[in-house]
Amino acid sequence: MAGGVTTLECDALLRGPGAGGPKRVSFGEKVTAVEPGPGGSGLVMMPALCNAHDHGRGLRSAAFGAGDDTLELWIARLEFEPKVDPYLRAAVALARMAQSGIGVINHCHNAQDPARLVQEAEAVAKAARDIGVRVAFAVPIAGRNPLTYGDPAAFLDALPPAQAEALKAKVANRPSWDRQLEDAERIFDLASPWFLPQYCPTGPQWVDDDVLATIAERSERLDRRVHMHLFETETQRQWADATYPGGLIPHLDRIGLLSPRLTLAHGVYLDADDCALLAERGAMVSVNTSSNLRLRSGIAPVKTFMDTGLGWGMGLDGMAFDDDEDALRELRLLWQLQRGFGLDRIVSPDRLWQAVLSDGRRAILGPNDGGTVTPGAPADLLVLKTGRILHDVLPGRADVFDMLLTRATKADVEALYVGGRAVVEHGHVTGIDLPAAEAALLDEARAKMTDIDTDAAARAEAARIAYYGAGCHCHAPDRERQEA
Ligand SMILES: [Zn+2]
Repeated sequence: MAGGVTTLECDALLRGPGAGGPKRVSFGEKVTAVEPGPGGSGLVMMPALCNAHDHGRGLRSAAFGAGDDTLELWIARLEFEPKVDPYLRAAVALARMAQSGIGVINHCHNAQDPARLVQEAEAVAKAARDIGVRVAFAVPIAGRNPLTYGDPAAFLDALPPAQAEALKAKVANRPSWDRQLEDAERIFDLASPWFLPQYCPTGPQWVDDDVLATIAERSERLDRRVHMHLFETETQRQWADATYPGGLIPHLDRIGLLSPRLTLAHGVYLDADDCALLAERGAMVSVNTSSNLRLRSGIAPVKTFMDTGLGWGMGLDGMAFDDDEDALRELRLLWQLQRGFGLDRIVSPDRLWQAVLSDGRRAILGPNDGGTVTPGAPADLLVLKTGRILHDVLPGRADVFDMLLTRATKADVEALYVGGRAVVEHGHVTGIDLPAAEAALLDEARAKMTDIDTDAAARAEAARIAYYGAGCHCHAPDRERQEA
């Protein structure tokens, strides 16, 4: 914020100094003072929500023909996304997230045109600056196993020869590893307080080991973060177990990838030994609850994360439960699924807020002084209205933050400040005209959508189901199999 101090009053403050009760919070770019206040504002304040894993697609996948289904089928349908202006695509996504109370975002970029990745990154950087959120831009690096996990022969053999040839030609036309790493360098040059590039080897099944080793070496030497999908599905775990008989996680450790600079998305199929090693190395996980349900992946083992001390945050992965980027409903789903059943107390409310507001932030930005509302911390602040949430609560009968976990949605967001700048005011983003941007994006998508060969898509899907159903991904050829 250019100069000036903003002062806000709230009836309660989460993750700030002193006991409960009303507060008056003053801030410029950073929080300058937290003092007792008069109360009665009908507002509560907390650090900005953090989305530790997302893709920043303004067009929702279910709306362009990639309906919710098993991840391995759904990913192939992502090619149905119309190619639109990369600025609008990102701006709509980031603005919707801001309106949902998210101020800090991991953006795992899915390139629309890999040959124009750098230009797409520039568009995302401009969108982040215009809207005012902090975006960690994860530069996609991929090329291994483009069709199936493991040898695709059985998959291709199940297709008509012309369709198989077309698929092979399509994946042969990808930028080389060298070109991708060069593009990453150019994107790292775009770094700013609003745009923090990171490496994103998209997943171990999609990146050659020597490229992962190169990324690990550069991450350490240049102090750059790495964000990678890992063990999102049981199928991926099965492929990894077949390909790395000594264990994928110990293998990644040997090549130097496991470090405090690493954040892993999903981790649904991590076991206790994996978690213990990741925790020892200081890596973190983004728990993407709704995505894991919608894409039929499973439920992340947060209890094991807690038992082993593995740090974790919350991610929307572009797949909020109601497909509406509502981070507060996502928080509730995460809470209800992971707090523990019966007398089993796995995650307390305090521990949940720490994960979502502080650890998640670290998973996105690396070590920093945010995630609390204390003097000197960045003024990344979320203000929620309590009128709807508390309207029927008898005086003194419920804690406001417990009620947030029970009832809050993005409809209750009053304001979001990032670095002191009002990114959302009275529930609306300030940096762009979001309804106009959404309308323009949809118009462009309708104009540019191309016909889908539904017969070919159905054949490929059936061939994929047969491939994985028969366990072809568990028969990694010798050249793929690594020594333990
Ligand atoms: Zn993802």
